[in-house]
Amino acid sequence: MAQDRGLAIEYTVKVADVPGQLFHVTTDIRNINQPALELSLPVWSPGWYVIENYAKNIYRFRVTEPGGRELRPAQVRKQTWRIDTKGISRVTVEFDYLANVLSANQARIAPDYAFFTGTQLFLLPEGHRSRPSVVRFQAPSGWRIVSGLDETADPAVFTAPEYDTLVDQPTLIGQFEVTRFMVEGKPHDLVASPPGVFSAEKTRTLAGHLTKLAETQGRIFGGLPYKKFVYFYFFRAAEASCSVLEHQNSFVTLWNPDALPLPDDMVGQASHEFFHVWNVKRIRPVQMWPYDYARENETPLLWVSEGFTSYYASLTSYRAGLRDARSFIGDTARAIGEVEGNEARRYTSASDSSTSTWIDYASPLPSRISYYSQGRNLATLLDLSIRHDTNGAAGLDEVMRSLFTDFYQRGRGFSTDDLVRVVNRITRSSYETFFSRYVSGTDVPPYDTFLGYAGYQLERSTRKIPFLGVNLDTLGRVTGFPPGSDASTSRLQQDDFIVRVDGQTLDDQPAGTIFRLLNQKLGQNIRLRIRRGREERELDMTVKFVELANYRIVESQSPTAEQLKIRERWLKR
Ligand SMILES: [Zn+2]
Repeated sequence: MAQDRGLAIEYTVKVADVPGQLFHVTTDIRNINQPALELSLPVWSPGWYVIENYAKNIYRFRVTEPGGRELRPAQVRKQTWRIDTKGISRVTVEFDYLANVLSANQARIAPDYAFFTGTQLFLLPEGHRSRPSVVRFQAPSGWRIVSGLDETADPAVFTAPEYDTLVDQPTLIGQFEVTRFMVEGKPHDLVASPPGVFSAEKTRTLAGHLTKLAETQGRIFGGLPYKKFVYFYFFRAAEASCSVLEHQNSFVTLWNPDALPLPDDMVGQASHEFFHVWNVKRIRPVQMWPYDYARENETPLLWVSEGFTSYYASLTSYRAGLRDARSFIGDTARAIGEVEGNEARRYTSASDSSTSTWIDYASPLPSRISYYSQGRNLATLLDLSIRHDTNGAAGLDEVMRSLFTDFYQRGRGFSTDDLVRVVNRITRSSYETFFSRYVSGTDVPPYDTFLGYAGYQLERSTRKIPFLGVNLDTLGRVTGFPPGSDASTSRLQQDDFIVRVDGQTLDDQPAGTIFRLLNQKLGQNIRLRIRRGREERELDMTVKFVELANYRIVESQSPTAEQLKIRERWLKR
């Protein structure tokens, strides 16, 4: 066997300064055989479509050769350093990384834990992306390590087969609880940080739900495509209010510890993130194959990567027995309402909202449209249409399976044209018009035609929505202020938690209870008890309301046998 003389890359990540929130990262590179070597850090993390410029957290960047002589690197891009390596076969690169943000796409060191994802700390030797690497951790005594990286016999040493896998992996160091369960004989670790917050009973229930989701989703694709899976659940106050991110064999999610959710209310998010194991981490738009870590990777296909994922999150929760059919159909109608009730749908197609996501977070405009709901909606229409065209023999599952086997497993991404070809092949029909009208175009689809394939129709009405002048999430937290409102005059403030409505508590109640209670008080005066930081106080308020278009999916009168057959296949568990 020929000796492997490619670069040998070893990273050491030391939790170097806990109060100062510093990682010290050492990159040791051997077997260099080129006159210059460029080292780059990603500017974004796949799945989180925002340029974060992680290099902004780096300082004391220093390069030495064996013997300790210092080499002077040139910074040739904002995230890239060039080292003159003529006659040099080994260099050691060191830097400090300030880790002070808890978010699923950021790094943080706190008194009892350190968290990061590879995109933040691991330099890529340009041109050597397929090289394997070793990662060593140095942690304060008593701290444990859990990572999506491949384990070795030494609990402080992990490996990655190549750079893309290396930087996709989150690692948590510190105190946490791990609950292991097996699916298809593969270990699944439910990690909870900090320990002791999420009760043992809730953990057991959640682990049961996660098992069912893994089994149900795995069945679509013929099994689970990884060696192990890690669920990182943080129950800590975070900088980002909605922080969750998928990885190839893990996901990271942050929940506010002031309003701990019930396991049943965590199913939807878990189902969505887990489906990303296939859709977006493996089935990937061609524009992100391979990822370009140096800049935005615009793709017109996030309506598939996120929207189909939302559709399958809901559908597989139902198939797994964690939701009933009514809830799935209700979710489907809600997605239609989110699209058709949004003025922006007249101007922004599903493919356009995908491409422009990179400016979404910075946009001051109130009416942008989400490729999540647009894509979910289109998934419903395509699923029903394919079932209709094939007389119930195939559906969107067959499309997903084809994208997995014909694209991912052959080492390539898919384009919009590829997707049209897959649907055309499965249906022996022509979907070019569907795509030009509803995907790249902004036509309103004839919902009753598509829903009618399964003996349903859309019912439009208006409904009154309780309104306290703020945006509330389903757990009763103030998440922000609607466009045009004045936050400075609002009596409710950002991150207030409503804990009681006229004496009725929201503690340990299912998500959405707040809206049920407010609905009963439309137009009336109520007394709210709220939690603001560590304090609680009472507020007397009037429950105003707004009228919104309401979409319901209802069964058609006297459906045909053919329609009922398609409905039965669609809702088959
Ligand atoms: Zn997602």
